[in-house]
Amino acid sequence: MKIYILDNGVIEIDSNRMVAMNTCATAKDKSPVHNWIQIPVYAVLIVHPQARILYDTGCHPEAMKGRWPANLTMISPYYYHENQRIENQLKIAGYKPRDIDIVVLSHMHLDHAGNLGLFTHADVYVQGDDFSHGLISVHQNPDTATHGLYVKADLEVPCRFIVVENDFELVPGVEILNLPGHTPGLLGLMAHLKYSGSMIFPMDALYQEANYGPPARSAGTLYDSLSFFKSIEKIRKLAKKHNAKVMYSHDMEFYKTLKLAPAYYD
Ligand SMILES: [Zn+2]
Repeated sequence: MKIYILDNGVIEIDSNRMVAMNTCATAKDKSPVHNWIQIPVYAVLIVHPQARILYDTGCHPEAMKGRWPANLTMISPYYYHENQRIENQLKIAGYKPRDIDIVVLSHMHLDHAGNLGLFTHADVYVQGDDFSHGLISVHQNPDTATHGLYVKADLEVPCRFIVVENDFELVPGVEILNLPGHTPGLLGLMAHLKYSGSMIFPMDALYQEANYGPPARSAGTLYDSLSFFKSIEKIRKLAKKHNAKVMYSHDMEFYKTLKLAPAYYD
């Protein structure tokens, strides 16, 4: 089994959205400077003897050209180079979108489900509570500013969706973990590699090392804060049990330490 990290560019954002109250006024510092930071966006390609699996799909290349609602292009603008498009990252690893058998979406937010349209031939695993919440969000009214981080066009892709509610082994050595809180449901992934050991990908259940702690710290926005903290402790328990490397989803300092495609973990 090989795991490739596919670099899909960056989002710029206020650091308080990653770690709540990262900059917060005090009597001594009444108007603190807020930090506008860059965070990575990535997908994970797992080349397994039984299947080629893509975990998340990154942002749609037209995100800033009308695909995303205007408010989100101000709050969290997306930037990428041509070689960071998901199909070009797959090419760098030696594959085409057609070669992917299974897509697992951590959740349906726009920086994770944006390129699903390239994989209509694949089986697509989604978390049931998040999938239905996303569909309801984008259909409840035509005002895209009220759709949260769900984009209608990202969800309305004619795929073979497989709705997941429980933890299970996807293929030998690759486990799917339910980690709700960031969204009503969220699928993390744990892989056990021969040489690199175990890796846990919690995606947005764990944005940054600062959220992990201990003590765990809240993200700027959460669907369900109690579930969010429970999920972090589930990750911590599994990481300890398997001596696993925890892969933060949007932490630039951490990301700079990773091997990116065409390099891989095996
Ligand atoms: Zn995200």
